Order: sequence, then structure tokens, then C-alpha cells
Amino acid sequence: HYLNARADDVHAVGRQICLVLLGQDDVSLENIPEGAILIAADIGAWDLARAPLKRIGGVVCGHGGATSHIAIIARSHGIPAVLGLGDQVNALRTARDVALDGNAGHVIIDPDEATRADFAGRVEAAAKERAGLTIFKTVTPKLADGRIIEVAANIGSLEEIEAAQEAGAMGIGLFRTELLFMRHMHLPSEDMQAETYAALAKAFAPYPVIVRTLDIGGDKPIAGIEFPDEENPFLGWRGIRMCLDRPDIFKRQLRALLRAAVHGNIKVMLPMVSDISEVRQTRVLVDECTAELKAEGVPHASFDLGVMIETPAAVLIAPALAKEVAFFSIGTNDLTQYIMAADRLNPTVAKLNDVTNPAVISAIEMTAKAGVAAGIMVGMCGEAAGRPDLIATFVKMGLTELSMSPASIQRAKKAIMAMAAEG
Ligand code: PEP
Ligand code: MG
Repeated sequence: HYLNARADDVHAVGRQICLVLLGQDDVSLENIPEGAILIAADIGAWDLARAPLKRIGGVVCGHGGATSHIAIIARSHGIPAVLGLGDQVNALRTARDVALDGNAGHVIIDPDEATRADFAGRVEAAAKERAGLTIFKTVTPKLADGRIIEVAANIGSLEEIEAAQEAGAMGIGLFRTELLFMRHMHLPSEDMQAETYAALAKAFAPYPVIVRTLDIGGDKPIAGIEFPDEENPFLGWRGIRMCLDRPDIFKRQLRALLRAAVHGNIKVMLPMVSDISEVRQTRVLVDECTAELKAEGVPHASFDLGVMIETPAAVLIAPALAKEVAFFSIGTNDLTQYIMAADRLNPTVAKLNDVTNPAVISAIEMTAKAGVAAGIMVGMCGEAAGRPDLIATFVKMGLTELSMSPASIQRAKKAIMAMAAEG
């Protein structure tokens, strides 16, 4: 335990020695100046998550797209970002100032006076729009037929609780647990996880807090778990696949969740499900953990188990899955890349990676139909859930929960209320 606790320090010293030997300067985001725009060919999503985000004025990246984790982290902290510039990012090497429009995806190098004035005006207009939306913070969006649509938050750390509450989140629809595992050079203990999940449950009770079990792999590797070299990591050993192969890691998380469930309304969902056996095997492990905790006399409570719908396989077996789980949460970021066979990080195929493509909309509709027919809750936690232009479509399909970055919540509530007013 003593050495574990110092692993980060040892790693940092090792890195410093390597840099000195290589004659290179350390690149650290620690001392990034206030308002600076971060420009890189690529940035590790979790390096960004650890950076002093309050000081970062914007992010520009050669790699990635609108649903890559860098974009998700930037969005949830209200940081303008433009991703997927490809080699064009090199043109920014000599820039002194950069004007950044994250909505349109525009990056302007050393803007002239007229552009500066235009951007300043738009920043002001956006601030006004945000101020006008605050009246929706306490609104509980209800449809004409009385159905409540839960507008929840996607977060990845306890530090984001305040932003979610400030925005008026009706619970957490997606707690990404990866950051817990990536913050340290060693895997988080059961106690540490139980404390984290309990703090979340308490913060939002009686609203639900949906914790997603570890979704490592693909673009989210982690120190402390040996990953094989894979030609196609997005089609490889990630999410529930890895967890079921590593019951030592998975059971620690499940036990922590059972313990935290005593403190509020914890629900648990599995990422990357593509076969019904993954749900059944998880239930066996949950039962094992419950029996262990009971035998040890440790307080615990049961939780609802749901699945993310992120793979075409899950869509196609949705009617069968719906009989085995308490809810669906549609992960449109992955579902889009897998339905369209278009990597969500690859700017060259960004056009295809489009949630509004009829193929993806049809997959969402099939999922909703299966969930509604089985009488289970169908929600969405991919980035599309926060798009005001799509919310009416999803709600009409039967979705009753939409989870998004805190910054999108009030606008989403407004869109639902407008829809309800139309009848
Ligand atoms: C998704 O795939 O839509 C999702 C919410 O999960 P993540 O973005 O973390 O892969
Ligand atoms: Mg996903």
C-alpha cells in the first residue's frame, strides 16, 4: 500500500529522468496560462481531463471528432473545441492568437479587427442566451400526456457534481468510471470506489445515478491492466468483454456499487454489450458479490441492472435483452460508429459518423420499440441526447430519459417544454 500510494511520484521522476536523457522539455498542462488555447496533433482524453480545465480557453486538435472523449470532456466544461483538423493543425504552429468557433468548427489564425469584433459579439450573445435559459434549471419537463422526461447529466468525476446540480440535472444518466481508474498509477480499491459511488448517490438522491461499469479499451487504455496489441481496438477487448475476463477487477467494482446502493438510487449499466450471455454472466457475479458481502456482514443493497445499446448486435437482440434488464441507455457515440462502420476518432470519415443518418435513426427506433414493448425505461446517454434538434424525435420514439453534458441540460429542457406546448 505504501509503495502503491507513491506510484505516481515514482512514475513522474522516471519521466523526468527520461526527458533529461533525451534532451527534451517536459510538456505539462499544469502551468498553462489563463485563457490559452491548447493546440496539438493529438491529446490523450484523460490527459486533458487531468489538466487545469478552468484555465483552458479552447482546444484545437488534428485528430478526433465531435464524439471523441476529448470533445466530450471539453463540452462538459464549456471549453470551445475544434477537432479533426488533420494536418492543417500544423498551420497553427506560428499563430499568436486564434479565434475559435466550436459550433461551426472554424479556426481563424491571428484574426483581424473585424473578426475579433464579430467573435466578441457572438460570445456576448451566447452568454445572454445562457442567462435566459437559467429559468429552466428547476423545470421538470412533462409532455402533454403527463409523461415526465428525465434530463440527467453525464459526468466522469465528483468534481463535476456541482456543475450538474447547477444546471438542474435530474440525476446522473451516465457516470463514466474510467477516470477513477486512470487518475492513478494503480487500480482503485473497493473502498475508494464505494466512497465515490456513495457520494454520487447522496448528492442526487432521490434521483437515480446510473453508474457505467468500467469501459476501458478502444481509445481509453489504462495503466495497471495489460492490454494486448490489437489491430482494431474498437472491435477488441473493451468494456464488458474485458471486465468478464478480469473478474478480480470487475467484482471489486460490483461490490463497491452494491455497498454504495445503500446510500441512494444507484443503477448500474454495462457498456459494449453484444451478447445476452454478457448480462447473464454479470448477474452471476453480482449474486456472488452479494453473497460475499452478506457473509462478511457488510451493508449493501441491490441495484437495477441495465445495458447500453452501442453495438448493432445489441439493437438486433433488443427484444430479448429487454426481458433480462431493467433499462436501456442508447450510446449513440459508439452506436453511430459501429452502425456506419466509421471510426469516431477518424476525421477522414467524419461525414459518415453522423447520428442523423437514416441507418442510425432506424437502429435507435428499433431499440426504443423493443424497450417500450417490454415496459422498461429507454434512455439515451450518447452526445445526441443533448441535441435540441433531435430531442423531439427521440421522445416521440418513447425515450423517457436523456442524459447529456451539464452545459446542454437547460437547452434540452426548453426543447422538451416547447414540444409539450405543441401537444
Ligand atoms: C456512447 O458510446 O454513446 C457513450 C455514451 O459512451 P462513450 O462515449 O463513453 O463511449
Ligand atoms: Mg460508448
